[in-house]
Amino acid sequence: MDDDLTRLACAEPDDEASRTERMARLQGHVFGCARCVAGGFLEVAHPVARGKGSVRAAMLIVGQAPGAAGHTHEKPFSGTAGKTLSAWLQIAGLPPWAHHDPELAFVTAVTRCFPGKAPGGKGDRVPSGPEIILCQPYLEAEFALVRPRVVVALGRLAATRLVGPAPLGELIGQVREIERDGRTLPVITLPHPSGVSRWLNLPANREQHLAALRLLGELLGTLPVDSPNPVGAVGRSEQGGM
Ligand code: SF4
Repeated sequence: MDDDLTRLACAEPDDEASRTERMARLQGHVFGCARCVAGGFLEVAHPVARGKGSVRAAMLIVGQAPGAAGHTHEKPFSGTAGKTLSAWLQIAGLPPWAHHDPELAFVTAVTRCFPGKAPGGKGDRVPSGPEIILCQPYLEAEFALVRPRVVVALGRLAATRLVGPAPLGELIGQVREIERDGRTLPVITLPHPSGVSRWLNLPANREQHLAALRLLGELLGTLPVDSPNPVGAVGRSEQGGM
């Protein structure tokens, strides 16, 4: 992490008021960032209001990068992907607006500027490795300031960034643990809700996805552990061969 951001993230006191104040300063760093322009990766830097939420948020939701709608509205998951995510969160027992509730979710991303459309025109361009490295200190500082009970990785890029490279099929429906600042955090991986991923096209994968949402609800306490599956998803014991 950059020295300035490290000091910001790790300063004392470590109480909620201090972390809230430092989070506001961190977001100021993000909004003023133009590292990818200086590096020749973007023509214009326009950091979106990722990092919305309270340092008390129960979930840290990590997406890939702002989409065109988020870029326009400066609000994460404000387009079609937001509607899909809202439906998923309801299956996990959360209110449909959970991703916009600062007490429930701190929404952030691997990179903070709309990367533009993919060269083929389908979906958005995936941020390059150097862009991810340039933006990484902001995400790490957010991990130091937010104390989530659960981390949700949306899509392959976020999952790779958090738990390491693995096929989505090996991650979705599983709980992986990561260490941050002396704390062990469970990570639930979901497909990205943009609709570009074809992973959800297979019925077996959709069952696996529903199981992951149930796990998320169990971890957050919004669904009872081992409760009857509300939508017919497979249980954890059935996921091994998928
Ligand atoms: S993507 Fe991240 S590192 Fe790159 S300009 Fe935007 S905020 Fe800065």
